Amino acid sequence: MNTHEFQAKQILRKYGIPVPDFYIASSSKEVEEIIKQYQLQSAIIKVQVHAGGRGKAGGVKLATNPQEILEFSQELIGKKIINEQTGPSGMISHQVLISPAILIKKEFYLGITINRELASRVLIASPIGGINIEKIAHEQPNQLLMLPIPLEETFRSYHLIRVASFMGWKGKQIQEGVAIIQSLVKAFKETDASLLEINPLVETKEGHLLALDAKLSIDDNALFKHEDLKTLFDPSQMSNNEARAQQFELAYVALEGEIGCMVNGAGLAMATMDLIQYHGGRPANFLDVGGGASQDKVAEGFRIILSDSNVKAILINIFGGIMNCETLASGIIEAAKGLEIHIPLIVRMEGTNVEKGKQLLQQSGLKILITENLTEAAQQAVQLAQSVR
Ligand code: ADP
Ligand code: MG
Repeated sequence: MNTHEFQAKQILRKYGIPVPDFYIASSSKEVEEIIKQYQLQSAIIKVQVHAGGRGKAGGVKLATNPQEILEFSQELIGKKIINEQTGPSGMISHQVLISPAILIKKEFYLGITINRELASRVLIASPIGGINIEKIAHEQPNQLLMLPIPLEETFRSYHLIRVASFMGWKGKQIQEGVAIIQSLVKAFKETDASLLEINPLVETKEGHLLALDAKLSIDDNALFKHEDLKTLFDPSQMSNNEARAQQFELAYVALEGEIGCMVNGAGLAMATMDLIQYHGGRPANFLDVGGGASQDKVAEGFRIILSDSNVKAILINIFGGIMNCETLASGIIEAAKGLEIHIPLIVRMEGTNVEKGKQLLQQSGLKILITENLTEAAQQAVQLAQSVR
């Protein structure tokens, strides 16, 4: 689960990491109130979307007087950001972060993520942070230090000295920087994060370290432990279908093809997509309704697939393992009856009680094409989708 910059900053602050003051506004009225209440004369205004690279996409603006603070905020509230990180459909900023503009002497990068090759959490540090960090990582890898975090979850002092000297921190900055690293490690662990980064961490005019931007992604599988963090979820940053799928605990990814797929099991869903592709079609989505797919889930799966106007046929590929085919077939029938489905429905079913399951589908009165095997199902789906077009 991704979070917004302001939410990540609230968490950094809770762990004692210094961040500049910030205010959140989602309307002109709120902006005006903030300007008045805090007597703001200048500020940085930033879109709040679940993606980085906002600066380069025109989502970060420096306002040098109160009038500009209002104007730029109005411009950025409701702005759609489109970049590599948002994907082609972009993300809309429903609110802006207003923060004092800081005089920056130097920008650093500091982040923690999980390195699967090392099977470890790693600290990544760079003395050249800021909006070009991806380019620097690519072109000057020697400007990046990657340090696995020890199992006991705290760095030894020689690790910390190494980072401080790599960053070029001097005097009081060493203490400040080391404290920030230790707090970051603690925050990463306690929020069950998969990514927690500060970019840029800056040296201010006075020589202090300050986190000007923050990004936090939390491991979805750990959310059940964190009632407080769950509330940070913002469905507006996902496509409608993805948000609905998440609500029904369906694993759904929208794709660009014309054959809607409803499958129980992620591996089976991948194989289904491969076969559709192999026979000349394109899957419209990945959808795993889960091993024990309930009728509610199947119905929601249908609704999501049908809301995609590119879909010309639906291929249902069911393996009755955890649930038997009979139960799954009645789930499909009940779900389909409640909806108006005007496109071909192709079913491949295999597993426990398969004959009974197929019989139920045949007698349901629904227009369902029951196929003998997966290859036939994929071929039929491709062919029927083309004939609809
Ligand atoms: P993103 O990483 O999404 O582009 P940032 O919040 O990092 O967004 O902003 C981009 C750049 O804008 C930063 O690298 C920094 O140079 C500058 N910036 C951000 N916040 C401030 C601030 N409060 N004061 C001064 N400059 C800022
Ligand atoms: Mg940034």
